[in-house]
Amino acid sequence: MRIVSLAGGIGGARFLRGLRAAAPDAEITVIGNTGDDITLFGLRVCPDLDTVMYTLGGGIDEEQGWGRAGETHAVKAELAEYGVEPQWFGLGDKDIATHIVRTQMLGAGYPLSAVTEALCARWRPGVRLIPMTDDRAETHVVIDDADGRRAIHFQEWWVRLRASVPAEQIILVGADDAKPAPGVVEAIGEADVVLLPPSNPVVSIGTILQIPGIREALLDKIVVGVSPIIGGAPVRGMADACLTAIGVETSAQAVLELYGADLLDGWLVAEEDRGVALDGVRVQAGPLLMTDLAATAAIARAALELAR
Ligand code: GDP
Ligand code: CA
Repeated sequence: MRIVSLAGGIGGARFLRGLRAAAPDAEITVIGNTGDDITLFGLRVCPDLDTVMYTLGGGIDEEQGWGRAGETHAVKAELAEYGVEPQWFGLGDKDIATHIVRTQMLGAGYPLSAVTEALCARWRPGVRLIPMTDDRAETHVVIDDADGRRAIHFQEWWVRLRASVPAEQIILVGADDAKPAPGVVEAIGEADVVLLPPSNPVVSIGTILQIPGIREALLDKIVVGVSPIIGGAPVRGMADACLTAIGVETSAQAVLELYGADLLDGWLVAEEDRGVALDGVRVQAGPLLMTDLAATAAIARAALELAR
């Protein structure tokens, strides 16, 4: 069986770990979000790709959900001594090695997809991980606060401001000119089923779907999504702030409608969201909390069964 899954960071990566356990013989291709990518201190950082790679490769800080296990922060402390900004983004020492390798390879002319493949040669995530695009398509957020109305990088809004300032707009800068990375459209074309894990529907899944050609490629496939919203609230994180910014209610029903019946064939919701419905989509309720590997594998199995 060939499975394609779109994925953001933590939510996506945890789901993928369950999927790998639920379908050990399947060939899994993951299309990762790169809208959150940022250049810091001259280093290209790809938070979502790395979260997937570290989680599936056994190197993740389990508690935190991102970054490396057993991390130290000597470089960050030294940069702070120099007063270098930004100080709000935590880059650990081990993690920095990944960004150095990536930046060096990008500088030598390799596309991000080739760099990601090279990094995965170390981590052996058990899936094929492809960035949504090799082109620069960056999520920016328009805010209006004491410093005035302006667009800032998604990470500044998410990490520095903790999404506390309302987003007027969320824009994927460069989306119009971006092309899917090599292998993305091909993998979708060959897939028996496509899964949308409980990743952020706006800045993770929504971003991937904005790359011209990806949504179109998904339209004639069997696509099953897992709701990231349970009982009118995100399970963790600040997805509600992103949904509000695009005028969508924070509910399993509204996210289903956002994805739409042209894209989705199946939609998994939590027990408390039984009753969610949309013409043309088969909705199924069940346990939806990724509390441990067994529970997560059961969610992935339910998604695959719904697809069947
Ligand atoms: P990313 O979008 O994959 O980078 O991941 P995030 O960690 O930002 O989480 C995205 C979404 O997943 C959030 O809206 C969470 O509410 C949702 N989420 C997190 N944990 C769970 C879970 O155990 N079950 C479900 N159904 N959703 C979850
Ligand atoms: Ca993300």
